[in-house]
Amino acid sequence: MTATRPHYDLPEPTLRIGGHHADARDGRTYDSYNPATEELVTSVAAAQPADVDDAVAAARRQFEEGEWSRISGAERGKILSRAADLIEQDAQNLAALEAIEMGKLFHDSVVGDIPAAAQAFRHFAGWADKVTGSTALLPDFGPQRRFGYTLRQPLGVLGAITPWNNPVLIAAWKLAPALAAGCTAVVKPAEDASLSTLRLAELLTAAGIPDGVVNIVPGLGEVAGAALATHPGIDKISFTGSPRVGRQIQSLAGDTFRKVTLELGGKAPQLIFADADLEQSMSWIAMGSFYHQGQVCAAGTRVLAHESIVEDVIQGLVDAAARARIGDPFDPDSTMGTIVNAKQLDQILRYIDIGHTEGADLLTGGHRLDRAGYFVEPTVFRGTNDLTIAREEIFGPVATVISFTTTEEAVRLANTTKYGLNAMIHTRDLSRALTVTEQLRVGTVWV
Ligand code: NAD
Repeated sequence: MTATRPHYDLPEPTLRIGGHHADARDGRTYDSYNPATEELVTSVAAAQPADVDDAVAAARRQFEEGEWSRISGAERGKILSRAADLIEQDAQNLAALEAIEMGKLFHDSVVGDIPAAAQAFRHFAGWADKVTGSTALLPDFGPQRRFGYTLRQPLGVLGAITPWNNPVLIAAWKLAPALAAGCTAVVKPAEDASLSTLRLAELLTAAGIPDGVVNIVPGLGEVAGAALATHPGIDKISFTGSPRVGRQIQSLAGDTFRKVTLELGGKAPQLIFADADLEQSMSWIAMGSFYHQGQVCAAGTRVLAHESIVEDVIQGLVDAAARARIGDPFDPDSTMGTIVNAKQLDQILRYIDIGHTEGADLLTGGHRLDRAGYFVEPTVFRGTNDLTIAREEIFGPVATVISFTTTEEAVRLANTTKYGLNAMIHTRDLSRALTVTEQLRVGTVWV
């Protein structure tokens, strides 16, 4: 059944350079499909290297000659606050664009991603007039006292490359701090979900951000993304996406000494100790495994459970999978939407096959739904940490439950991975939580 879709406006599916809409110079486009229906949404201008040149030149011109880096931080803060308000007011529209292009639940974006994107702008609006340095006393020079001071200056032009799974939120995380500092930017959104970023650019203009500060170059990764990542007119690249592409960007940036920030993939462990309050924790464990169909860098799909409660955890996950209502992302009753595209769906099904072949025990799920659209069942395996499905990022709703005996073993299993993005600890023992947190080699720990 298809739910009634809220009204939404498609942004112009074009490049946005220097405040103007433009087709790609050679007129190329790519097609964007709705993964819930497999129908065409629209064709979007596909930036080529010459278009990226234009966008970088517009951002550079605004940075060198325009007002954005020169107005006061307080003024920039006021405009960024206005941007936050407009993003909030446009939440339904932005969320609808994300649902229609990549199958995320409309409601989840309305209450989650979009308010969080607004919050990022509001947060950095507050920092815009509080950019301070420090002073340091230097050794005396003969009779003369000396001191040095640091002065923070905007870096210049940011190149931002974003993934499809949280397009507006991740663009906001990159843009808000850069804009607060007085930088300008060129953003290359993912080809599977670029419309909400184009809409975001319209809102930023409406908030009063001058032309040329934020330029958008939708296009294919290996064309527009690669042109941006290697462009000599960019001062810094901020990339969120797969380790494979991140590695290429890092090594290309090495040649030019360009600054790079990479936010890459994950295979997070959830450590569930014997004293966990499973009644409370089970909904978090299931969310860590299935939220946004597992298409989350921080998904906790390695479920490490103490041997005394492993059966309860398995039952809890199997029950959660049975309760899942997989369907139209606009239907308020759906609890899971679609996988972003056919290629990603194939990748998930391939990993499920590998799980079978390597001897993991399939407890529930494992299939594509027999209907139009890229829907897949939430899937739970019982297995071990050395299986491919427990080592590699699947980016789908596929959890592997692994049992452990001692805390030392849990920590060793959690750390036996090439990833280190995040981890979750479920326990009622605060001192264990603190000790284990210190022992985990990850960037973020949720207790
Ligand atoms: P991806 O690496 O395929 O694409 C990310 C972006 O890079 C897209 O805009 C794409 O067009 C572009 N790109 C592709 N090839 C390129 C190239 N050769 N040069 C420059 N740009 C190129 O990733 P994805 O499939 O869009 O996203 C999923 C991945 O992102 C997962 O690994 C996920 O864990 C990760 N991710 C990480 C975070 C985080 O904060 N750590 C957040 C979300 C997603």
